[in-house]
This record gives sequence, structure tokens and C-alpha cells, in this order.
Amino acid sequence: MAPAETEKSITLPPTHFVLVPLMGQGHTTPMADLACLIAGRGVRVSLVTTPVNAARLRGLADRARSAMLPLEIVELPFPPAHDGLPRGSSDNSDSVLQLFLSLYRLAGPLEAYVRSLPWRPSCIISDSCNPWTVGVARSLGVPRLTFTGPSCFYSLCDFNVAKHGLLHRGDDHTCVVPGMPVRVDLSKDTWAAAFLTCIPAWGKFVEEVREGIRMADGAVVNTFLGLEEQFVACYEAALGKPVWAPGPFFLNSRNEEARTVNQSAVTAWLDKMDQSTVVYVSFGSLAQMLPKQLYEIGHGLEDSGKPFLWVVKESETVLPEAKEWLQALETRTARHGLVVHGWAPQVAILSHRAVGGFMTHCGWNSLLESVAQGVPVVTWPHFGDQFLNERLAVDVLGVGVPVRPFDAEKAVDPVVRGHIARAVSELMGDGAVAEERRRKCKEYRERAHGAMAKGGSSHENLTLLLHSFMRSGRKE
Ligand code: UDP
Repeated sequence: MAPAETEKSITLPPTHFVLVPLMGQGHTTPMADLACLIAGRGVRVSLVTTPVNAARLRGLADRARSAMLPLEIVELPFPPAHDGLPRGSSDNSDSVLQLFLSLYRLAGPLEAYVRSLPWRPSCIISDSCNPWTVGVARSLGVPRLTFTGPSCFYSLCDFNVAKHGLLHRGDDHTCVVPGMPVRVDLSKDTWAAAFLTCIPAWGKFVEEVREGIRMADGAVVNTFLGLEEQFVACYEAALGKPVWAPGPFFLNSRNEEARTVNQSAVTAWLDKMDQSTVVYVSFGSLAQMLPKQLYEIGHGLEDSGKPFLWVVKESETVLPEAKEWLQALETRTARHGLVVHGWAPQVAILSHRAVGGFMTHCGWNSLLESVAQGVPVVTWPHFGDQFLNERLAVDVLGVGVPVRPFDAEKAVDPVVRGHIARAVSELMGDGAVAEERRRKCKEYRERAHGAMAKGGSSHENLTLLLHSFMRSGRKE
């Protein structure tokens, strides 16, 4: 036995979780929220990251310090060329893959960090897109849980499709996902995009991700039983490992932050609008709209006649003609529209009483944030899990309007202004169907808040997760 280990057993080390997020907004944010939840229970947690991402987490670090939470941000050295996912870069899937692969170089620094600790951590929770942590955890002899970023619905679909050897569908017909408790069918093209077989270069990486999930000691999913109970149960049975659902993580951390964003120009504008009248339009941190898509969105919103708050990335208006066109639209729609250039405080926006709908790319964080705030959605998926998150929102939860009608038999049409105007009008309309969508959303909001409150299912799930790794002989 190594000398350090002898010492550990004598000093009764604390329970300590090491969280390894994927470097990128949509992945780091929920892990940071989870770190806050764990630390909020008085359990020591380290969130490892790279220097650029650490700068983005400074606010969290400050809040943790002032609340005296046992949370530390650990900066691992990392080559600066790929330090963090650039915002607005997903069209270049090659560079995203290169970033994911370059993160494998964090294996050495992570192992060195853990070995430098005076005790062995109780558990590593790593993003499923960091399959390189499998080897690190094994070499350290530390249990590893996988954090699956998408919905549990997606994770279960992906698991089943891979298990049945159906990743590559060659037929022209509707493809049905096997082993699901509800019927899930996708068109052939959507299938390839959802399970990432449309980009052969991703094949080996995606297989490693699946293997990393299969080999983990369990999974943590950012969801709650009141939303995805049947899929959590099926996923647990499929994996044969525990699956914890202690979400929505953001409700106990960033919701608080949202209350402090009350001075911004965005919320000042929203304050002037009537209750539930504004449609919020944003496509996450990565999806990049081409100028022709911007024009269709802008004209569609204008044609809908509904008040809107639209987030446009700086990188989407680099062309002078796109910038000019957008300025003209802003002038024409100044009475009822607001364009935010760059980054918007999404959680604060979704929790504002004026917001009555959200047009989203169906990134899981965005969809969960919306549902947990009681805001129904127009769904416009672009890539990967987003296609199945759309099916969950529309077919299973009944809280979404697809931007273009779904037809599993057909190839996907490009979205044009008519689609946008129709979907927004439908979402924000007064009919019985729209009312029912709103009612369901409000119910999910109640359930989400109930789940996170003491005694709720998510609160209990976190307790169970922590207890599974709690070190005996010491009070946390
Ligand atoms: N987000 C934000 N402001 C923006 C755009 C995105 O706060 O202007 C946040 C959003 O609240 C969510 C995350 O960034 O937490 C995006 O994650 P998601 O899974 O929805 O999509 P991704 O960016 O991974 O495609």
C-alpha cells in the first residue's frame, strides 16, 4: 500500500466529488450548477476546467466564496489554441470534433491534480463527451459517473439504437427507435443527424462516448422525474446501473442569479410589455444562422405581428449587408421587437412574466429552462440530440409546436418565413390547443419547482447520489 493511502485511512478523508465538464457553454453551465447543488449540501466539490473557461466561471467562484460553499474551481493547464468551444461555431463540425479530441490531452493534468490531493476523491462525474476520463478514473481507482448532457429520452434512444445495431439506417422508410416506452419515429435524414452517423469523421469519437457511458458506475441526468420518469426508469434498466435525476440543476443556482439581472436593458424592455405576449427567439451558444436564415427568421417574426425578443450572434452579422438588413428590421419593428446582439440572460428572460413563448433549437438546457419556467416552445432542431428533444417536447410532453410540420416519410424542408410566422402565431394564439400547451407547461413548472424543493424527487435523488459515495466515519 502506498504511504499516502495509509495516511488517508487514518485521517478519514472527506467526501469529495470531482466534476469534469466538457469545455463549452451548453455543457459547462449545467455541471457548474450541479457543483453548486452538491456544495450546497456541504459536500466538497472541485470543478475542473481550463483557464479560459475558469474566467467564465469567475462569477460562480465568487458566489461560492461569499456563501462559504466548499466548492473550488481547479484550472488544468491546456494548450490555448483550443481552450473552450468558440460561440457560434457548430457549422464547422470539424473544428468542434478537433476541440473534443484535443481535450484528451487533459487526461495527464487531471490525473496529476487528483494524485496531488491529500485523499482520493469519492467520485469523478465527467461529461459523457469526455470519454478520456475512463482511463484516468481506472488508473486512479476512483468510481466514475457519467453526466449525460441531453434529455434522458435522447440518451435512452441512443442507447437502444446502438444496442440493436441500427445506427446506420439504409432504407427510405420511417425509422422507429426500438425499445422505447412510446413510439418514436424519425425520417431517414433526421435519424442520421440525430445519431451523428451523417458525419463519418465523428464515428470513432461517438463510439468512445457510448462505451464510456456503458462502462460508467452510473449516470447523472439533468432532468426530473415529473418530466421524464418513464425514460429514467427504462434508462436505468437498460444500463443496469443507477441513474440519478436531480434536475433541473439551474433552478437552485441560476434562478437566483436571474433575480439579480433586473437592471439590464433587456429586462427593462420586457417590463414594458404585457403579460405572456413576447416570443423569445434564441438558438443556444453554438448554432450559427446563415444570412439567408436570418432574413427568413426576421421576416417571419415581423409577419407574425407578435412582440419578439431575438438574440442574434455577432458572428451572424459580419457581412455588411446582413448588418444593414438587421438595422432596417430593428427600425421597422422598434415598437414591438428587440434584437439582442450577442449574449442574453436567458434564464432571467424565460422567468420574466412578459415572455409567453420561446423559439429554440432544442438544446437540452434551453428546452429544460423553458419548460421549468412554464414557457411553451417552437421547436427548430439543428443537430444531434436536438431532433429527439423536439419529439419529446412535441409528442410526449405536449409543450411544443414544430417550426415545420413533421413528416417522417419526407426529407426535412428548409425553414422559411411562412413556417416561422405560422408556428409563432400558433404558439402565441388563443385557441384551445394553445391554451392546453400553456396549461401543461405551467404544470411542468410546478413539478420542476416541487422536485427541487426539500422532499421533492430531485432533492431526494441528490441525497441518494451523495449517500452512495459518502465516506463513513465522518459527518459532512
Ligand atoms: N444561453 C444564454 N444566453 C444566450 C444563449 C444561450 O444564457 O444568449 C445559455 C442557455 O440559457 C443555456 C445554454 O446557454 O443554458 C445553451 O445550452 P443548450 O443546451 O440549450 O444549447 P447549446 O448551446 O449547447 O447548443
